[in-house]
Amino acid sequence: MSADNDDPEIEFEEVLMTPNGNEARERCPICNRPNSPGACDTCEHYFAAYWDGDIIWEIGEGYQKFSEAWGLLLGVIYETVLFQNQDHQKTKSDLWKDCQNKAKENKAWDEIINNNDPMDMEPAEAFLNLIPYLSGPTIETDGMLSGSGHSIYMEDRGIVVELAEEITNLANLIHMEFNQ
Ligand SMILES: [Zn+2]
Repeated sequence: MSADNDDPEIEFEEVLMTPNGNEARERCPICNRPNSPGACDTCEHYFAAYWDGDIIWEIGEGYQKFSEAWGLLLGVIYETVLFQNQDHQKTKSDLWKDCQNKAKENKAWDEIINNNDPMDMEPAEAFLNLIPYLSGPTIETDGMLSGSGHSIYMEDRGIVVELAEEITNLANLIHMEFNQ
C-alpha cells in the first residue's frame, strides 16, 4: 500500500460508536443513531433482526405475538376450511370466496389468498410481507456460522401488535363461520 492509497474510503473510515460507547454496526435508517444490536445498544426504532429466514434478537414481544397469531390462523384454515368442510355442498373455492368476502379489508387474508402456497408461509416471511419496516444494511458472514440478514427498523412498533390482534380476530371469525 502506498501513501496515496487509491481507496481513501477504507483508509479514512471512522469507527462508528454508539452514544453509549459500543462499536456500532450500522445507523438507524429513521433517526441515524449508530446502533449495536449485538450489544443490545440501539435506538427505539430497532425492532429485531432477520437472519437466515428467522427473526431473532427481538426487543419486546411483538413478533412473538404475531407469529402466534399467524400459526393460529393457518391452523384454523387448515382444520376448518380445508378439512372439516369436505362433505359440504360448497366447493373449496366457494369456501375461499366466502372467506374473502368476510375479510376483504384484512391484510393478512389478502396475503394468504394472494400467496400460492400460504400453508407453507413461515411467520417470518409473512411478517416481512405484512409489516411496513425499514431495513438495516445486509450483513453476511462466512465460515461455519455463515449466513446473512439485516436489522428490522420501524417507526411505530404498535402496528405489529395491532396486526397480530387482527389476525387472531380473523382466525376466530373463520373458526366460527365454519363450525356452526
Ligand atoms: Zn432510530
